[in-house]
Amino acid sequence: MIEVSNIVKTYSTGEINFTALKDISLKIEKGEFTSIMGPSGSGKSTLMNILGCLDKMDKGKYILNNKDVSNLRDDELAYVRNKEIGFVFQAFNLLPRMTILENVELPMVYAGIPPKERREKALIALDRVGLSDRVKHRPNEVSGGQKQRVAIARAIVNNPSVLMADEPTGNLDTKSTNEIMKIFQDLNREGSTIIMVTHEPEVAKYTKRIVKFRDGEIISDELVKDRLIL
Ligand code: ADP
Repeated sequence: MIEVSNIVKTYSTGEINFTALKDISLKIEKGEFTSIMGPSGSGKSTLMNILGCLDKMDKGKYILNNKDVSNLRDDELAYVRNKEIGFVFQAFNLLPRMTILENVELPMVYAGIPPKERREKALIALDRVGLSDRVKHRPNEVSGGQKQRVAIARAIVNNPSVLMADEPTGNLDTKSTNEIMKIFQDLNREGSTIIMVTHEPEVAKYTKRIVKFRDGEIISDELVKDRLIL
């Protein structure tokens, strides 16, 4: 489903060039639940931005769902991103003035889905993350864990083929972290493909595979043997 080969990404600031990804190759099949780990600055976000079609690489090849997306124009890349990828961020990135329901409807507004269908789908997604009783609240009126559940509902509402999460539990306590990991495991059992960046080894143990980065290179890629199930 995802196959990148020999990816190179170099950032240029003034006269200084910094190669954040050095010849990365990685394959992720449908139905996987993979953690990306590694120290700060090792290239995790750079890779996620490329896999999520938010940024382009300098060299290499990216096949997403049998389509070569390596050399698309910005507008073509945006189309692929909106159709195929759901994002969850550490800081939730919800709009504070909108209700929870409206936040979840937003990606469908951009996709041009009619209001009635939007509402129905948003309510189904919110039910899936256990927030049916909070739909009229605003983000500030719910807990951090609940905010992240709203963000997950928003990420899955358009049925993306891949869910990408960048430190999704970085701002959460243990109880909320476990709630979020349970939702991810449930979604994964139902067929969702999930890629998650995390610093926390105990959070990575809920996933099926751990890919470790250092200095822009993959230093290990292993299945999780003693996986925790929620
Ligand atoms: P991680 O997510 O593992 O912390 P990143 O992918 O964010 O690492 O960054 C990898 C390296 O690339 C870092 O050294 C960072 O300073 C550099 N970098 C990231 N984004 C930019 C940018 N837009 N311009 C210049 N350097 C960048």
